[in-house]
Amino acid sequence: MRRLLCQVCAEPADVTEDGVLWLLKDQRTDWPDWPKGMGVTEPPVCLSCVPVAARQCPALRKGAAAIRARSFPVSGVRAMIYRSGPDGLNPIGEKNIPYGNSALRWARAMNLIRKLNECTVVSLEELCQKSK
Ligand SMILES: [Zn+2]
Repeated sequence: MRRLLCQVCAEPADVTEDGVLWLLKDQRTDWPDWPKGMGVTEPPVCLSCVPVAARQCPALRKGAAAIRARSFPVSGVRAMIYRSGPDGLNPIGEKNIPYGNSALRWARAMNLIRKLNECTVVSLEELCQKSK
């Protein structure tokens, strides 16, 4: 995620003038300008891995959307939160924590989160054709 490598093959992710390519679970009905401002823990993808990722990734089976983002700053972490107890530290659940939040002191980070902005939804079918 930090180096923007493909989540499938670890080669550099696809980049055009419209930005870096992400394959996400299609949630276009969640809000009008989805996925603008959304935090993602999934790294981007390269063009040649789009068909296999869309076909075989369990998270994408109910529908995938291809997104290009021009702005994608690392904004926080997905982490296990701990609470101090009589037996020591106890895990209480996973949470997305933005940088600067005091909860980071009691967390063990698992994934970086990038916040997607300047997003364009692109045709998954066209990407699959280009990848051949
Ligand atoms: Zn790849």
